[in-house]
Amino acid sequence: MDSYDVIVIGTGGIGSAATYHAARRGARVLGLDRFPGGHANGSSHGETRIIRKAYFEHADYVPLLERAYALWNALEVASGETLFRRVGIVECGRTDGSIVPGVRQAARTHHLPLEDLRPVDFGGRIPFALSADMDAVFEEQAGFLFVERSVLAHLRLAEAAGARLAAGDEVTGWQASADGIVVETAHQRYQADKLIVTAGAWAAGLLADLAIPLFVRRKHLHWYACGAPQYQADNGCPCFFYETPDGLFYGFPEVDGGGVKVAEHTGGIDIADPLADNKAVDPQDRARIEDFVRTCLPGVSTTPLQHSVCYYTVSPDGHFIVDRHPQYGNVAFAAGLSGHGYKFATVIGEVLADLALDGTTSAPVGFLGAGRAALAR
Ligand SMILES: Cc1cc2nc3c(=O)[nH]c(=O)nc-3n(C[C@H](O)[C@H](O)[C@H](O)COP(=O)(O)OP(=O)(O)OC[C@H]3O[C@@H](n4cnc5c(N)ncnc54)[C@H](O)[C@@H]3O)c2cc1C
Repeated sequence: MDSYDVIVIGTGGIGSAATYHAARRGARVLGLDRFPGGHANGSSHGETRIIRKAYFEHADYVPLLERAYALWNALEVASGETLFRRVGIVECGRTDGSIVPGVRQAARTHHLPLEDLRPVDFGGRIPFALSADMDAVFEEQAGFLFVERSVLAHLRLAEAAGARLAAGDEVTGWQASADGIVVETAHQRYQADKLIVTAGAWAAGLLADLAIPLFVRRKHLHWYACGAPQYQADNGCPCFFYETPDGLFYGFPEVDGGGVKVAEHTGGIDIADPLADNKAVDPQDRARIEDFVRTCLPGVSTTPLQHSVCYYTVSPDGHFIVDRHPQYGNVAFAAGLSGHGYKFATVIGEVLADLALDGTTSAPVGFLGAGRAALAR
């Protein structure tokens, strides 16, 4: 049986980073995945992901984001690729809503630069529309990541650091004991001292003994044709995030003529397994997005160019779960990234390597622990 220091189950968004960080620390690492790197079956595809620091979800994420930003920068240098476009983000919502006040709160707590926008800023340097009852802020340090390109960069650098990657094999189970870990796949058995589980939408099955309630939610991404140059990333168009009475909508400037990408953060249907999902366009989802485009994105057409389906794995409180297994100290995992985890891939990868190799981490991830009350059944 092949033997390793660390086995990573799932080398998608987070696992590719964990594989890289464990390997660059000198460990003998095996990364296992059912699919090849950059695949479109889980949660880390669709070209781009928003990255921002003034975090409305909770200000406690900001120190992790500071580290994530440093690691994204280091990854770009190490890979020689552009992975992060720092175009900024405009966040809009009612003054009595939760997004803009949450962004301001995080910025205040952590002294992050944030610009208050006025109605006069819209329609000019910012091509979007702002209704009279909305407030808006601009975070210049935000932008977007190229997601598949970043997964592949992590995997390539992991291999260069000595990791072995085995894609195309399904992990069917694992056991931990005082002697270490045994991982079984459809074709092989492997042994390791430590295990990292980063299985995305399949985490509940591979961490079944923890009984964490995780919901897999189908989400649609839509790209629309746009001839207006002010919506192009090359012309400085920012990302956007709107809190409207109909829900939370967000999107990205046009990159390389591919259209403006728009999606809804709220909504979505819970499903059992992405592998059994038909991934068809949902006309109701499309209609909601197109209403948003007509209202808030003047100059963007509702002519669809592309559509993709991706999956959120949602925890009961919408916060990530990053911890060691309560019974097996040699098992670390990240799960329930709840539709906002990719921007943290670098830092969570580093944290998981710390937890697996050292049993502890200096990163402030205590608030993401598996023992928190919100996760109790
Ligand atoms: C539509 C959409 C928009 C999003 N927008 C943003 C955004 O703007 N900003 C942001 O920060 N985040 C965003 N997110 C969230 C972010 O993309 C995810 O949190 C993150 O990419 C999840 O990574 P993961 O590693 O957990 O899952 P995945 O990348 O899916 O990786 C899990 C891997 O485990 C493998 N695996 C699972 N089970 C097995 C098994 N039994 N055997 C072998 N392999 C297995 C899978 O094949 C897969 O490769 C978005 C998500 C979606 C779906």
